[in-house]
Amino acid sequence: MPYVFDFDHSHRRPPMEMKDLLGGKGANLAEMTSVLGLPVPPGFTISTEACRAYMVGGWPAGLDEEVARARRRLERAMGKELGDPVDPLLVSVRSGAKFSMPGMMDTVLNLGLNDQSVEGLAKQTDDERFAYDSYRRFVAMYGRIVLGIPGEEFDSLFEAAKELAGTSSDAKVPTELLRYLVDSYQQIVERHTGEPFPQDPAAQLRGAIEAVFRSWNGPRAVAYREREHIPHSLGTAVNVQAMVFGNRDDQSGTGVGFTRDPATGEQGVYGDFLVNAQGEDVVAGIRNTEPLSALRRSFPAVYRELMDVFERLERHYRDMCDTEFTIEQGKLWMLQTRVGKRTGRAALKMAVDMTREPKIRLTRAEAVSRITEDHLAAVLHPQFAGKGHTVIAKGLAASPGAAVGRAYFTADDAEAAARRGEPVVLVRTETSPEDVHGMLAAEGVLTARGGLVSHAAVVARGWGKPAVVGAESLRIGRHSFTAGGTTVAEGDWISIDGSSGEVVAGKVELTPAAPPPEFDIVLGWADEIRKGALGVRANADTGEDAANARRLGAEGIGLCRTEHMFLGEDRLPVVRRMILAEGEEEERAALEELRAVQREDFAAILEAMDGLPVTVRLLDPPLHEFLPSVEELVVKEATTGLTDEERTLYEAAKSWREANPMLGTRGVRLGVIKPGLYAMQVRALMEAARDRLAAGGHPVVEIMIPLTVSREELALARQWVEEAIAEVAGAEEATSDGRKGQRRARGSRNGAAIEVKIGTMIETPRAALRAEEIAEVADFFSFGTNDLTQMTFGFSRDDVEGRMMSAYLDKGLLARNPFETVDPDGVGELVRLATARGRSTRPDLKVGVCGEHGGDPASILVFYDAGLDYVSCSPYRVPVARLAAAQAVVAAGGGAPQERGRGRAPSRAQRSGSRPVSRARTSRGPAPRSAKGLGASRPVKAVKRGSGAHNGTRGSRH
Ligand code: PEP
Ligand code: MG
Repeated sequence: MPYVFDFDHSHRRPPMEMKDLLGGKGANLAEMTSVLGLPVPPGFTISTEACRAYMVGGWPAGLDEEVARARRRLERAMGKELGDPVDPLLVSVRSGAKFSMPGMMDTVLNLGLNDQSVEGLAKQTDDERFAYDSYRRFVAMYGRIVLGIPGEEFDSLFEAAKELAGTSSDAKVPTELLRYLVDSYQQIVERHTGEPFPQDPAAQLRGAIEAVFRSWNGPRAVAYREREHIPHSLGTAVNVQAMVFGNRDDQSGTGVGFTRDPATGEQGVYGDFLVNAQGEDVVAGIRNTEPLSALRRSFPAVYRELMDVFERLERHYRDMCDTEFTIEQGKLWMLQTRVGKRTGRAALKMAVDMTREPKIRLTRAEAVSRITEDHLAAVLHPQFAGKGHTVIAKGLAASPGAAVGRAYFTADDAEAAARRGEPVVLVRTETSPEDVHGMLAAEGVLTARGGLVSHAAVVARGWGKPAVVGAESLRIGRHSFTAGGTTVAEGDWISIDGSSGEVVAGKVELTPAAPPPEFDIVLGWADEIRKGALGVRANADTGEDAANARRLGAEGIGLCRTEHMFLGEDRLPVVRRMILAEGEEEERAALEELRAVQREDFAAILEAMDGLPVTVRLLDPPLHEFLPSVEELVVKEATTGLTDEERTLYEAAKSWREANPMLGTRGVRLGVIKPGLYAMQVRALMEAARDRLAAGGHPVVEIMIPLTVSREELALARQWVEEAIAEVAGAEEATSDGRKGQRRARGSRNGAAIEVKIGTMIETPRAALRAEEIAEVADFFSFGTNDLTQMTFGFSRDDVEGRMMSAYLDKGLLARNPFETVDPDGVGELVRLATARGRSTRPDLKVGVCGEHGGDPASILVFYDAGLDYVSCSPYRVPVARLAAAQAVVAAGGGAPQERGRGRAPSRAQRSGSRPVSRARTSRGPAPRSAKGLGASRPVKAVKRGSGAHNGTRGSRH
């Protein structure tokens, strides 16, 4: 397979589907050239395969010859040659990976200029100033990017030249000074490299291509890929393209345009434009841009042509596209297009609108698949509460949501402050890829310069981080800024609203955002798609949480951690009395007290979830967690001394203390040594259910035993549970419904039945392996993937994330943090295997997951693939889980019910979108949905998690 493909190469598949090989930019340039016939400057793409070969073994054999041949073809097509002293061709060399990485890798422009060809360019264009300005830019860019010379060396000379010329405008530096700058820049190069600036275009080209390959592993690119979960192994393609010039004269210009508004999703074109400028000037936000509408007046014919191109692009890509274009002396050239990034609000609106537009006819399955976790998070972002804040500056509303934090003025300072635990707003004149780490650490970003497509705006929007850009009235110094007569110093609180562009000094109170109407429409479609395929429940421990979860679409509770009910101020002393009890009598009295309060808690939860299943887990954590810390009491004993009560607690805490509490007396093991404990909890639950029934409700109860390792252990626990159920049912019979293990407890007042299922968590590798026999005594399984991950890896869930996880991720020893995204090969394999083994004993075994992974989209793919019936996650993740569950169904070939059998697809994704859910379901049952799990599914990246959303497992547990 060749490494180099011309843009008009005739591929067997549509080039836009070949991003793996051509990279996103190369694939779309080829699509625009060879399929759409748009005015694209000719060029060629060096494939990602060449980059991968380079990363393994250096410059690939044969690549020089292929590049030389492609160069000759390009020169023939253009009727010009690189380096020609009379009429030179110039090219740009740009990176272009499979997934867009805005500004993360390198670009070299104006390549092909040398001491001779610059004169040819001057003659051909009759513009010496333009030729020397281009050469100056090229030498500086090449010096910085290819030869690794610090950019400031060139920049400071240029600033000095401007000062000498008495101008602040780049465009006003006179030709003699530009000639002088070229000369000085070349001296800088020679001083740094010991060699003269390369004059041979072939050497220049090879240097630039290699620099792009190298930039794939530059720190900026690596950090970005880690944040976006893009595999490091993909490599980048390199695009070599004939240059066209937006900076030729006032009949030239350059801009970026979107086919609809990327902030709101409204129809109509949108973008920024600069007369007499090169593309980088727009994106860098160095000069203030004009809106695209201004083009209509200054370049009416070009404007009409551009509108026609936008229309064709939308129709062809069936999505909003963003573009870069250049006008060279009145002629329009399309330099780039791609499906555009958008805010959450815009994504939802566009997805819904496009299902209704005849030219696009998106299916509901496609619409659902276009929404990401970040989009949902963005519309759920908080907003400023109330009105009337004193706005000290106003900028562009670049990325929605409000943020409050302390102002820091460099990315390093912002990162350091965030590490100290401070919420941070990063304030910069403008941002560049060098600032990415500070942006990542910040709650929000504020810049004084740049448009809605500037670096700050694009990156923040992509991450769903609030941002206000181009707040021009800001005067930013090293450690403070002033605006509207107010000075904000480093560390002072500020608030920004990325939906309105407002900047406020001090802390503004925030309220949660109200999602747009399309939020419910899209999630409604997601529910239709996943109906009967994958349920979504919530982990909730209080009536309030349960009600909130239900509002967010939860279809029941998958995990009620009852220990949370033990930690209330009024309950802890009772729990301690139970632990410290000396005799049975004392213990029973304490348990009775606990029963009364637990009953109220359960009543509130059952009411909030009336008619939906509520899975209550019996007590799980080691009992010492309810006692004071030994360390604190040791200190107290040595200093102020202990009271009698404290001394008793101290002795108890010492005696319950274990070396490995997570592997000690917890879960069902607690029940074994304190059997009255579980019986008490079951009685409280069943009494609450009986009361609910009596009140006309429909309690659906599932009782879950944690941390079991064997059938015998679960059978014993089940016996306690059944006895307690029978006890509550009183004189009335507690009958089996005929199927092994299903219990019906009769409510005592109206005789109606409460269906109770008794099941277990699968949290240990042994339980997973012995699932076949454990299923003999379980009505359901719920995978506790937090513990299952801990025990499968032998990674302490309370320790490894802080200390070693980042090293493991940096060194590539782990692809993802397994506490965040389930390990598909190890833990995932145990999930698949246990599900299959459990169902081989009991085909109707209900199986879910309630570890943190239940709310993680990439993990949800694994769980759907394993044949699970539902996932359960924290209430605020329920919308994300509903979406991800539907996407998993679509990825496996399911679609919305009304779309079943409705095929209309030129693309593979569309064809699969038309397959009925029921077909996907036929592969279910004991066997996994696909042998390879994740491997068969759509890229995990499409639904990756938002930054900072995950707080480890410990916080969620206790
Ligand atoms: C689990 O282990 O995944 C689980 C849900 O239980 P906990 O986090 O409470 O240990
Ligand atoms: Mg657990």
